[in-house]
Amino acid sequence: MSDNWKSRTKLVHGGTRRSQYNEVSESIFLTQGFVYDTAEQAEARFVEIGEDEFIYARYGNPTVAMFEKRIAMLEGAEDAFATASGMAAVSGALTSLLKAGDHIVSAKALFGSCLYIVESILARYGVEVTFVDGTDLDQWRAAVGPGTKAVFFESMSNPTLEVIDVAAVAEIAHAVDAVVVVDNVFSTPVFSDAIAQGADLVIYSATKHIDGQGRALGGVILGSKELIRGTVEPYMKHTGGAMSPFTAWVMLKGLETIDLRVKAQAESALKIATHFEGHPALERTIYPGLESHAQHALVQNQLGGKGGTVLSLDLKGGKEVAFKFCNALTIPVISNNLGDAKSIATHPATTTHQRLSDEQKDDLGITPGLVRFSVGLEDADDLIADLTQALEAAQA
Ligand SMILES: *Cc1c(COP(=O)(O)O)cnc(C)c1O
Repeated sequence: MSDNWKSRTKLVHGGTRRSQYNEVSESIFLTQGFVYDTAEQAEARFVEIGEDEFIYARYGNPTVAMFEKRIAMLEGAEDAFATASGMAAVSGALTSLLKAGDHIVSAKALFGSCLYIVESILARYGVEVTFVDGTDLDQWRAAVGPGTKAVFFESMSNPTLEVIDVAAVAEIAHAVDAVVVVDNVFSTPVFSDAIAQGADLVIYSATKHIDGQGRALGGVILGSKELIRGTVEPYMKHTGGAMSPFTAWVMLKGLETIDLRVKAQAESALKIATHFEGHPALERTIYPGLESHAQHALVQNQLGGKGGTVLSLDLKGGKEVAFKFCNALTIPVISNNLGDAKSIATHPATTTHQRLSDEQKDDLGITPGLVRFSVGLEDADDLIADLTQALEAAQA
């Protein structure tokens, strides 16, 4: 196994562990525990655990370890801890780092559940939170101080697809020794280089592009050995947010094809966004891969010019027209996942971001006409034809 392998080789072979049967496809070790030869061996393992040794599936499991190693190799991280869901990863990363009296600075454009953790849960445990416009570096500079223990943001925000400068925010945060925690779902592990750009902990909801076929919930926290084993693992293994071995196997198989899938989806997303930009039924077409995107230059530097697999269409006529549009689609499904092989239309204002106040929605640009569109693996021309007829039907 080599760290010099290119991504696609890592995704197929990285982290593989074989049993005595030398199986080709990764095994599912569907076991909670492991047998010790002797009581002395059990005692020794609880003192120090070796690389090929396991104690209990809440702490680690061979199938889960394969997934952790493979995604860590892709991301260029020293280590990883797999979790039961993306939210277990977000809450585990933040809660393991912070204690009462600490200060955290967070971008305000957050996925609803992330906002709930930062705004409601952390506050309840005495962590002080300052929200900033994540794209405004002056606001980050003004908000951090000597008591700031962590900064948190989605590198590409949901659903308005603002892109935040990982390297610049990391520089500001590191000047006060704050840990940089990045929710990197929309940037995807295929296009992101967030660890190299200065992120200390990178989080994925594996439910999205890593599975990529809508089957299982999962998540992962990536970072240095010191942060993952020293800070994250003790918290996660005692609080119980571990990934199941079966899920890890689904995610391992997802990783084998993620590079092909995400690149094809991003190519279709660019084609669709380019096609509909300026369409008379639309107020705005938001896609980070478009030249018209506010952070287009940053997308070139940070993501190699790739805008991801999601675009947002802001329809003229508000909620009524947006609903008619969603209902008229024949290929994409109405749901709230993303990164799936199936294209998915979501109306954020009434679903994923329903909990936000009207002022918050206004402030974040989550308008009543906004439809988030996760581009799947269908033929892009079929999707363009379907979106076109749905836009027409919505205006009728
Ligand atoms: C989906 C998502 C999460 C949560 O992941 P789950 O696997 O659903 O728990 C967190 N952050 C972002 C940006 C997401 O899109």
